[in-house]
Amino acid sequence: MTHPVLTALGLGANESGTYLGSGEWSKTADAGVIEPVNPTTGEVLGRVQASSRADYDLIVERAQAAFKVWRSTPAPRRGEAIRLCADALRTHKDALGSLVALEMGKSKPEGDGEVQEMIDIGEFAVGLSRQLYGLTMHSERPGHRMYEQWHPLGLVGIISAFNFPVAVWAWNSFIAAVCGDISIWKPSPKTPLSAIASMKICNEALRKAGFPDIFFLFNDAGTELAQEFVDDRRIALVSFTGSTRVGRTVGERVARRMGRSLLELGGNNAIIVDPSADLKLAIPAIVFGAVGTAGQRCTTTRRLFVHESIHDDVLGKLVTAYKQVEKKIGDPTDPANLMGPLNSRDAVDAYLDAVAKAKAAGGTVETGGAALDDRKGNFVLPTIVTGLSNDAEVVQTETFAPILYVMKYRELDEAIDQQNAVPQGLSSAIFTTDLKAAEAFLAATGSDCGIANVNMGTSGAEIGGAFGGEKETGGGRESGSDAWRAYMRRQTNTVNYSDALPLAQGIKFDL
Ligand code: NAD
Repeated sequence: MTHPVLTALGLGANESGTYLGSGEWSKTADAGVIEPVNPTTGEVLGRVQASSRADYDLIVERAQAAFKVWRSTPAPRRGEAIRLCADALRTHKDALGSLVALEMGKSKPEGDGEVQEMIDIGEFAVGLSRQLYGLTMHSERPGHRMYEQWHPLGLVGIISAFNFPVAVWAWNSFIAAVCGDISIWKPSPKTPLSAIASMKICNEALRKAGFPDIFFLFNDAGTELAQEFVDDRRIALVSFTGSTRVGRTVGERVARRMGRSLLELGGNNAIIVDPSADLKLAIPAIVFGAVGTAGQRCTTTRRLFVHESIHDDVLGKLVTAYKQVEKKIGDPTDPANLMGPLNSRDAVDAYLDAVAKAKAAGGTVETGGAALDDRKGNFVLPTIVTGLSNDAEVVQTETFAPILYVMKYRELDEAIDQQNAVPQGLSSAIFTTDLKAAEAFLAATGSDCGIANVNMGTSGAEIGGAFGGEKETGGGRESGSDAWRAYMRRQTNTVNYSDALPLAQGIKFDL
C-alpha cells in the first residue's frame, strides 16, 4: 500500500525518476530501480525507475535549449518564477516536510524546517534577482569607461547528499535560476522520493504560469551516469554536496576538463567551552548539535573542548541530558521523539566501528555506545567518548553518527589549535562571556572554519550568510551573501568614447 504521505503529494508506489521537461516524465523502465527504505521500519517506501543514458542526453539537450531563452529573460522576471516556487512550497510544506522526515529519518520539525529553508532561499533569490550588481572602476585611460557585468553561466549540475534531501537543491537551483542558469539535479539514491516531490511541486507552479523548463531531474541506480555528468563539458558548474571521499574525485574530474565545481563536503566540527561560559546556553547547544538529526548533519558537533576547571561539571550535565534523550528515541515523525534513526544499516555499522576504534585507542564510553537491537530500524544510542586525544584517528574522522568526543584543555590558544588540527574546516563555536576570548576565536589567528559562532552551536545555518567550509570541506560557498557569484560569469568591459587609442601603462606603439 502506498504510504499516505506519498499519496498526499500525488506520488504513487512506482515513480519515474526522470523529469524531461514540458511536464513529461520518462517512461524508461530498464535502467534499474531505486528502492528508498524507511529507516524507522526497514520497509521499502516505493520504487523509482532510474534514468537511462538516453534520458540524460535528452535532458541536457533540452536544458541547453532552455538556457538560450532563460539567459535573455530579465532577472526580475526570473525572480518571479522563483517566487511562485516558494509559494507552492509553502502550500505543500506540511506534506513535503513529512516525506523528508519519513524518507531521510529526521524529525518532523526538522523535515518542515528543511522545507522552510527552501521557501526562505526562494525569497532571498527573488530579492537577489534585482541585485546582481557588478562594480564600476575608474579607467586609467582618458575617455574610457570600465565596468563589470555578471552573465548567466549555463547549465548547473547539482549532486546532493541524503541528509538534506531537498534544501540543498533549493539553495543551488533557486539562486542559479535567478542568475539565468538551468539546473539539472541528481539526488541521493537514498532519498529520491523527496526529490521527485519537490520537482513536481515547483515545476507545476512554473508550468501553470507559462515559464519555461528551468529545473530537470535524473536518478542514477549506480554511479555511472553521475560520473558522466561530472565529466560532461556541457555542465558549466557542478555543485556537489556529499562526503569528502566522493567530493575529492568530483573536484579532480571537473578540474581536468577545466569546468567549475562548488564542493560542500564533510565536517568535523568542534565547540570550545571556556571557564566563563554560560552553561545554560552551552549544554542545550552541545546536545542539539551532537544529537540532532542523529548526528547526520555536516555541521553536527563531533568534538568538544572543555576547560579543565569545568570539565567534570560539563561532562556530568551532558551525560544527564543524553540519558533524557535516550528515553525519546524513536519514530522521527512522532513529535514526542527527540532523536530518530540513522539513515541506513551501513551507517549503523560505521557507528559501531567508530565506537570499537575509540575503545581500542583508549577512549572511555561515558554514555551510549550501542545499537538498539530491540526494535526495527537503524536506531543507535547517542554517545559520548572521553580520554582520547584530538589526533586519534577516529577523532580526526567524520563518522556520520551521534558520537561526541569530549577533551580537556588548559589554555585557549591550545584549544583553538586543537580545534583547527583536523583535515576538515566547516563549522566551529565557542561558548564564553569573555570578550577577549570571543574575539581571539574569531580573529585571523582563531578558528580556521568557514563558520565560526559565539554562544551558539555549530549545527545548522541561516540562509542569509554564505555557507561552506575550508580545507577538506571543499572551499565552496552556497546560499546567501554573495555566493550567487559562483553561478555567473564575470565580464570586464572597457568602452573607449574618446578619439584616441591610448595603451595601458603608457606604452607607446608608434606605427
Ligand atoms: P556521498 O558522498 O556518499 O553521496 C553524495 C552524492 O554523491 C549522492 O548523490 C551520491 O549518489 C553521489 N555519488 C556517489 N558516488 C559518486 C561518483 N563517483 N560521482 C558522482 N556522484 C557520486 O554522501 P552522503 O552519504 O549522501 O552524505 C553525507 C556526507 O555529505 C557527509 O560527509 C556530510 O558531511 C556531507 N554533507 C556536506 C554538506 C555541506 O554543506 N558541507 C551538507 C550535507 C552533507
